[in-house]
Amino acid sequence: MPRMLDVSEDVRAEIGDEEAERLLTGDNSPGSYDCTSCRTPGDSEQERTSTVLFVGEETAVLAFAHASCIPSQVVQVAEDQLQGAVRSITGGEGDAATPSGRPEQAVLGVTSGLVLIDGALHPALVVEPTAPIARPGTTGPDQFLELLVEQGFQSVHDLSAAPEALPGWSVLLAMGKLHAVLQPGANGGGQVAWWQAHQPLQVTEGWRAEASKSSRVLVFAAPVGSIGQQPREDLLRDALDKAAANGRLVAAAMPLAGT
Ligand SMILES: [Zn+2]
Repeated sequence: MPRMLDVSEDVRAEIGDEEAERLLTGDNSPGSYDCTSCRTPGDSEQERTSTVLFVGEETAVLAFAHASCIPSQVVQVAEDQLQGAVRSITGGEGDAATPSGRPEQAVLGVTSGLVLIDGALHPALVVEPTAPIARPGTTGPDQFLELLVEQGFQSVHDLSAAPEALPGWSVLLAMGKLHAVLQPGANGGGQVAWWQAHQPLQVTEGWRAEASKSSRVLVFAAPVGSIGQQPREDLLRDALDKAAANGRLVAAAMPLAGT
């Protein structure tokens, strides 16, 4: 199999040999993607592709680009700049770099934390995109919450009660790291990844302990700009309360898959 994917030494050092090999052997290769530089479609099986790792203080986002656009590299960004990073790498053209009629590609930022609801600690994930999410095929206003409500997420107006379980969805944890949030496949098929970590996310021992005790994770989602990266769980809780009060929070409980 031809190696069409470039993983530079510094990207390899960040993601680890194992993940690099999975990418290179195709087990975890991106297939088709939107180039993080020129924003037109690319296909890692058809053309040389660069891996580009955006690294913030707590999270890292792996993105892909045509090798003819930019080389494989690590880009250090402040956590709150992770959103702008995909744009800044295009050479500072800002929003003008997004061709008209083509929605900006958003990635989902995921934060884990323990959230106190009704006197009990619940392992939670907070999902916030880096850019507005429009309905597929449109460039309309942000419809992230509407799309999730259509999938069965509940609107949250305050955090006085844990959300209901959402059938068919689950949170995949493996060897203590968060790998994916799974949703039901189309036409009754198996589960597919709604969100997948390019680099498995470390969770705290406390989070893992509570999650394996309850076998359940609460997944909160808010539109871009609602939560931000919060360095402490009490600040995360404050941000969730505020998003809920502003009608900008949805949630669902999901069973834990894995350990
Ligand atoms: Zn490109």
